[in-house]
Amino acid sequence: MAKRRCTAIVLAAGRGSRMESAVAKQYMLLRGRPLIWYALHAVEESSVIDDCILVTGTEDICYVREEIVAKYGFSKVTAVVAGGKERYDSVYSGLAAAAGSGTADSRAPGHDGYIFIQDGARPFLTEEILERCYGAVQEDHACVAGMPVKDTIKVVDGSGFARQTPDRNYMWQVQTPQVFDAALILSAYERLMQEKERLLREGVSITDDAMVVETFTDCKVRLVEGDYRNIKVTTPEDMAVAEAFLNCGDTLQQEGQLQEKI
Ligand code: C5P
Repeated sequence: MAKRRCTAIVLAAGRGSRMESAVAKQYMLLRGRPLIWYALHAVEESSVIDDCILVTGTEDICYVREEIVAKYGFSKVTAVVAGGKERYDSVYSGLAAAAGSGTADSRAPGHDGYIFIQDGARPFLTEEILERCYGAVQEDHACVAGMPVKDTIKVVDGSGFARQTPDRNYMWQVQTPQVFDAALILSAYERLMQEKERLLREGVSITDDAMVVETFTDCKVRLVEGDYRNIKVTTPEDMAVAEAFLNCGDTLQQEGQLQEKI
C-alpha cells in the first residue's frame, strides 16, 4: 500500500496557567531546550510524518519562527499559525492550515491523508507510538494513543462525593497523538464549530479530538497503546518527572553502550 501523506498539527497555543510560571510552559527549558522542542524533534525525525503545522499564540508567532523553527532547523514545519481561546479553537486553526484554506471546510479538503494532532506539551512522543497510530488509522480511520489506567477512577458529584466506580478494566487515560482521516476530522470539526455555542450553553466541555469525532460522526475511535512516559507537562512537578525520564533514558543508553563494549 502506498504511503499516504501524514500531517502533524502540534499544539502550543495554551497559556499553561497551571504551571504557575512567568514563561509559557511550552517555552520553559527542559535540559536546556524549550519543552516544545521535544515533540517537534520526534516529528522531524519520524519516517511517518511528512509535514507539520505548528499552532501557537498570536503574539508568539515571530518568536517561534525564529527562535524555535529556524534555530533548530525543523524543516517539516510548513506553517506557524495562531491558535485560539480553547484547545479545540487551536486545532481548528491547524486543520484550516492543513486543508490549505482559510477554513477547515471539508467540502474542499486540500488533504487526502491523515492528520496527527499532538499536544506540544508532551515531550515523550516516540517513533514507535507514531508507527502504531499510523497502522491503526489505516485500518480504522480514527485512533488515539492512550494507556489503561492504573488507579481506580471515581465519578464524583458536584460536592466531591463518590457517585460511581466504573470498572477499571474498561478505563484508559488518553494521550496524544490523536490521528484521523483528514476528511473525517475536518468535517467533525466543522460541525463542532457550527454547534459550539449550543454545546457551551449546555455546559459540555470538549477536551480532546476523539470526542469531536465521537459526537459528530459515526466513526468509532480506536485506542492504541501509547506509553506511560508519554505525559503531558501541566504542573511544576511534571517538569521534575520529565527530567527524571530523560536522566533514566541516559542511564539506559550508557548501559547499552557498556554492554556493546563487553
Ligand atoms: O490545556 P491543555 O493541557 O489541554 O493543553 C494541551 C495542549 O493544547 C498544550 O500543548 C497546549 O499548548 C495546547 N493548547 C492550545 N490552545 C489552547 C489550549 C491548549 O494549543 N487554547
